[in-house]
Amino acid sequence: MISISEICDEILKYHPAPNISLVKRAFLYASYYHKNQMRLSGEPYITHPLSVAKILTELRADDKTISSGLLHDVVEDTGQSIERISKFFGDEVAFLVDGVTKISNLNVNLDADEKQIENLRKMFVFMARDVRVILIKLADRLDNIRTLSYLPPDKQKRIANETIKIFAPIAHRLGLYNIKTELEDLSFSILQPDTAKYIKEKLQEIVPKSQKFIDEFKEKIQEILKKEGIRRFKIESRIKGIYSLWEKVVNQGIDIENIYDIIGFRIIVDDVGDCYRCLGIIHSHFKPIPGKFKDYIAIPKPNGYKSLHTKVIIPGGYRVEFQIRTYKMHEEAEHGIASHWIYKEGNPISDAGLKIFSWLRSILETSRESQYYEVKNISEDIYPHEIYVFTPKGDVKILPKGATVLDFAYSIHTELGARCAGAKVNGRLQPIDYILKSGDIVEVITSKNQKPKRSWLNLVVTQRAKSRIRQFVVKEEKIVAKEIGEETIKKELKKYNLDLQELIKSGVLSKVASQMKIKSLEELYISIGMGKTSIVSFIKNIRKLIEPKEEKIDTQQKQQMQTTEELVGDLKGVKTRFALCCSPVYGDEAVGYITKGYGIVIHRKDCPQLHNLSQERTIKINQTNFPIESIYFGRIKLFVDYPEMISEIISKLNKKGYRVKEITSREHNSKFEIDLTVLVRNKKDIESIINELSALENTFDVRRV
Ligand code: MN
Repeated sequence: MISISEICDEILKYHPAPNISLVKRAFLYASYYHKNQMRLSGEPYITHPLSVAKILTELRADDKTISSGLLHDVVEDTGQSIERISKFFGDEVAFLVDGVTKISNLNVNLDADEKQIENLRKMFVFMARDVRVILIKLADRLDNIRTLSYLPPDKQKRIANETIKIFAPIAHRLGLYNIKTELEDLSFSILQPDTAKYIKEKLQEIVPKSQKFIDEFKEKIQEILKKEGIRRFKIESRIKGIYSLWEKVVNQGIDIENIYDIIGFRIIVDDVGDCYRCLGIIHSHFKPIPGKFKDYIAIPKPNGYKSLHTKVIIPGGYRVEFQIRTYKMHEEAEHGIASHWIYKEGNPISDAGLKIFSWLRSILETSRESQYYEVKNISEDIYPHEIYVFTPKGDVKILPKGATVLDFAYSIHTELGARCAGAKVNGRLQPIDYILKSGDIVEVITSKNQKPKRSWLNLVVTQRAKSRIRQFVVKEEKIVAKEIGEETIKKELKKYNLDLQELIKSGVLSKVASQMKIKSLEELYISIGMGKTSIVSFIKNIRKLIEPKEEKIDTQQKQQMQTTEELVGDLKGVKTRFALCCSPVYGDEAVGYITKGYGIVIHRKDCPQLHNLSQERTIKINQTNFPIESIYFGRIKLFVDYPEMISEIISKLNKKGYRVKEITSREHNSKFEIDLTVLVRNKKDIESIINELSALENTFDVRRV
């Protein structure tokens, strides 16, 4: 039985500063909670987590991964909660244990075809979240399959089948070649015991018989390399795994009786230059087989694997396989993913380095098939807030539940989102707001004329899509606002005979802008176009700068103003009020009457009262100077036949959105005369009220007062 101190010793060999106390505590915790459990072999249960931890040290896993390996069955088998694990061992260990527990519950359909199985492998890796969860799961599986013989045969077969279809290919893609070979060979022996036994026996027969032959061949290569000037090198021979041999018998027709088909040679040298030199030497002494040379140094495998591979024909017509690599490449190939982990003193492993690497995705993106697969139950049970959907190429996308076609499109590329016009979901056309389900295969359909709209914000749930849509819409709105703003400024300036370009040239505009705390001309246009800055106050500031003298209405300037045909400038600075006699509203032609000390009283131009006032003190009020942001009193008079009409009038006006401020009525020659004061915004409102009231039955002589 493996002991915990053995495991700690192993960690110390490759990890500069492991948290040994964490590992030991994990062991004590696991052995306490598993204390009453036995494996089917009759051994105490703790031997299993210990074996898993041992395998993890062979993968050079970090202290947290080892601790999680020791604890990996505690939640599943002893009912301890993840919260407790987190409390005692921290969030990271709890996260890893939780991940292993979750993916252990995957119950997949192994009878699915290869394309579907490929999707399952991807899903499995994506659900694991952290590559360390996969390592623990692989170690768990390896120990389980090593000790499988105690299980009933049908269960053995199922586990072996799952291992060969799902786990061994994942180990392979992670570059864990030793684990992959062992998983395959053990599974193969369970699934096809007779074939496996036959191949094993053949190997046992051929290899010792051929040992002399192998040694002589090695020596020959050694001589050749030395003669050609390669100083430091090592030659190894290795026997292929039984499963991969069997696959080669079936797929490539190799001869199991031929030692050179079952053995491979490996040359390990100091540097990359020597790799290519060795290759050249081998190729110049033996005829290479076309199409069998692979340069994984120039183009490494997605998992980082580097080597030169070639196959040559030796005298006698035998095919021999060579792998050529540096010591460093060899080290990396032996430890797979672990060689990507850099243990630094004090700062063992960066978080980012251990999360699923971006290249891990690319490892899984080797297949180009797409196939609909019913995976709904699997993913919804494990991560209820997420869905897993596939691109037409079979790549997995994880999206929050409720995500739409539009979210999916944005998750791939901003441009794809912006042009998204719908999608083919499992081959059927669906709109952009279609809500996706796990397992959907989504092919986005784009249109050149499509562009993001503000309303799209309601059709997406992902932050990414939201922010991209918002960015686009705001940009678009700014462009429009800029045009409107510029146009508005031009128009307004024209009224004062001012030209925008001249004001820009003379620097007046930028001066006014900075006075108003606006950074650039563009921002000024946008601000005015969006209505954030009032055009009235902007023009006022311009004019202040050009005509520095403030226009104030006082007795001294009165004379001057009387000769002015119209009052120019903003009336806001001047005290104004509306004449009660005629109640002017916005839209009326108006005349101002300059009073002594009470500012200007505004009358309607047709107000009869004006005749009684001094013509010299009246001024014309320009429409643009009329205060607009106001509510005015619209006064209307009408006659009705019955007093009951009053309530009908009020309800009619309310329905139309007008508020009646005051209503009075009196009898007049057996008719009823009604005076109304209604809150209005402008002259048009008054006109429409008059129209509405005239249209009522039993009303007549409706008019403005
Ligand atoms: Mn286990």
